[in-house]
Amino acid sequence: MADEILVGGVWRRGSGAVVESLSPLNGSVIARVHGADPADVDEAVRAGAAVAADPSWRDLLPHERARHLTRIADSIAASAEDLAALQTCDTGKSINETRALVASAQGTFRYFASVLETMDETLTVPRGPYVTMSVHEPIGVVGAITPWNSPIASDAQKIAPALAAGNAVVLKPAEWTPLVSLALARVITDSGLPSGLLSVLPGPGGVTGDAIVRHPGIGKVSFTGGTATGRAIGAVAAQKIMPVSLELGGKSPTIVFPDADLDQTLAGLLFGIFSSSGQSCIAGSRVFIHGSVYEQFLDELVERTRKLRIGPGADPATQVAPLVSHVHRDRVAAMVDRARGEGARVLCGGGVPEGEEYETGAYYLPTILDRLPNDSATCQEEIFGPVLVALPFEDEDDLVAQANDSVYGLACGIWTRDYRRAWRIARRMDAGTVWINTYKQFSISTPFGGMKESGIGREKGREGIAAYMRQKSIYWGMTEEPHSWAG
Ligand code: NAD
Repeated sequence: MADEILVGGVWRRGSGAVVESLSPLNGSVIARVHGADPADVDEAVRAGAAVAADPSWRDLLPHERARHLTRIADSIAASAEDLAALQTCDTGKSINETRALVASAQGTFRYFASVLETMDETLTVPRGPYVTMSVHEPIGVVGAITPWNSPIASDAQKIAPALAAGNAVVLKPAEWTPLVSLALARVITDSGLPSGLLSVLPGPGGVTGDAIVRHPGIGKVSFTGGTATGRAIGAVAAQKIMPVSLELGGKSPTIVFPDADLDQTLAGLLFGIFSSSGQSCIAGSRVFIHGSVYEQFLDELVERTRKLRIGPGADPATQVAPLVSHVHRDRVAAMVDRARGEGARVLCGGGVPEGEEYETGAYYLPTILDRLPNDSATCQEEIFGPVLVALPFEDEDDLVAQANDSVYGLACGIWTRDYRRAWRIARRMDAGTVWINTYKQFSISTPFGGMKESGIGREKGREGIAAYMRQKSIYWGMTEEPHSWAG
């Protein structure tokens, strides 16, 4: 891959530090890319502002902007297999997952094209002799900052609504995974989007990301990543009085009642925590099991966990692929060691798999722990790996108190056949998304976001475009009489 990034419509070498993409399979360097320095960020923002203000983009009607999004979706579809393979290479994720992520990215552009085709504005009820309305307008240049776990899907989730809203976008992908975001940028520019509307600037978060957030020409930042980073970005946004949306971390509870369908629940739990090797903000990483079935259910869960197929992402049979990097795998391993120190019982996993085929990869075994109190670090902190911690509960009040006793509030899963109970619990949970008898399912038409320290703002859904717009109310006088006050 050429050492080029997209700065204000120009593919060229970045002026910043080199970002290395390392293979999760053996740690070798897949690609070296010169990232963007603050001067590159400035160039990208200025170019974005110029093209966003140019009548050829600014004056496009929504249905005309929709055509650009549809063309981008078609281009993603045409390159789908290459994009999926590249993301598997860069992130280690299984090919089935990266194919689904590319399909999701494509669907996101199509969805927002349809929203543009069908959107409307509000004529409000007047309280005097005027017509009143509220309209939405582009912000100008939007900063988008994304993490490494699902780059193409999280990039699309920001780029599509931001362009649909009529903005220019400056995207910064994560240090570990710049390749698929750059490949997506090639696909988007090749589709005929006006030059300069999209910049993709890899680089270190504290340099490139920080320069984007602080730049006076950036009118909004949409961030997905860890809570500590989100807090730092939120602090800068507060100083700038700039809108910001934050999709942050999670420690999501999954709840098993004794009446749940056993097979369905076990499959849902395994998928919820061990797909993506647990590197998912919505991973169901704490399972609460009713005390009356606790040991039997765990036995079955452990048995099925041991049967999961571990292997390279490129093998379609693989269920649990290597983690994104050896550094991250070692971090996960250290957290499991800490759990042992806290007194955890390790029911399965708890180390790297044995065998020649696993020697060089960033593999970690699917792991289940228990016998830790809910206030232990293991039950409270996001591990972001294939590690599940189990806890028993006695009744609904005990369950809700324990499950909500977390700084996070991203997602929750409930497994029961009792629909009244499912509804009661769903309404009591501090969670932006609740899944009942399913888990980790997404639809672009349904808003997504966190409560508490899992974030602010919502992505997806029809309102997803409005999040990248400024609202303006207009009063249009309908009388010919001068105002009585002026005499
Ligand atoms: P991270 O917070 O370390 O980095 C995310 C992005 O922010 C990267 O591009 C990084 O370079 C950039 N960044 C870092 N410091 C910055 C700064 N000071 N200013 C501006 N940008 C900065 O997160 P990560 O390790 O890449 O991703 C894992 C985290 O993301 C987990 O906590 C996970 O839960 C979260 N996540 C959340 C969602 C969601 O939708 N809620 C989705 C996926 C991942």
